[in-house]
Amino acid sequence: MTHLRVIPLAAGECLNISALTQRGAAWRVQTYPAGFALLLHPLLGPVLFDTGYSARVQASMRRWPGVLYGLLTPVRLDPRETALSQLARLGFAPDEVREVIVSHLHADHVGGLRDFGAARFSLDAATYAPLRDLRGVAAIRKAFMPELLPDDFEARLHPLDFQPAPPGLSPFAVAADVFGDGSAYAVKVPGHAAGMIALIVRTTPEAVLDGDGAGLMLLAADAAWSVWGLREGLEVHPLARVIFDDAAAERRSAEQLRQWLLAHPRAGVFVSHDAPETGHV
Ligand SMILES: [Zn+2]
Repeated sequence: MTHLRVIPLAAGECLNISALTQRGAAWRVQTYPAGFALLLHPLLGPVLFDTGYSARVQASMRRWPGVLYGLLTPVRLDPRETALSQLARLGFAPDEVREVIVSHLHADHVGGLRDFGAARFSLDAATYAPLRDLRGVAAIRKAFMPELLPDDFEARLHPLDFQPAPPGLSPFAVAADVFGDGSAYAVKVPGHAAGMIALIVRTTPEAVLDGDGAGLMLLAADAAWSVWGLREGLEVHPLARVIFDDAAAERRSAEQLRQWLLAHPRAGVFVSHDAPETGHV
């Protein structure tokens, strides 16, 4: 069975208040990496799961209305940290990336899309539909910066095909077999953003979906602010919920991921805004 190598990376970081990202934590400013992942597919080569920030995000944050976004979550980015720069150091030209899987369209996940001109963008169509006509402050309120999307974004958009999920993905009812070879499944985890997806990836030839999770990796995007919070089912501060697209759906999605992890205790977890777990996979 096909398996992928997963390399968790981060492009920049944002500042936020700990007490908002986790109920009961201190009221102090903390930095959170803007994580993304490089997936190495044996036939397709380098595939990205999100991109993190780019200098374009910072440029937009210097202008109205992006400045509002920058006030809420200030961004730090070393130019050597962008997805483009890190891939170059790993020996990949930008046009070798033929696929970017997009968890959702918040600016810290799509900041680098314009750097990958040969890629198609695989996502849940439900994440783009509510945003496509938003501009100005209405877009910023959804953490969406339309200018980050390439001009031909719609032509390159590849809606994921969700089908009844294999039993090993329970409690998720549907899943999309991203590459058609069983190496990566997208599952729906809406709430933080409409149409957000997580990925469940086979990282070893022996990994099976209906085992104990050995060799599986969950890339949970923004379904939680920390791996610990996701595994333990911790809640964010009620104030932080106002930015959620749908707070009830957010709780439901986090609970489904927690249930899946309980059934797959050896699976590794990567959430976008926390350091990658070690000791798994
Ligand atoms: Zn987000």
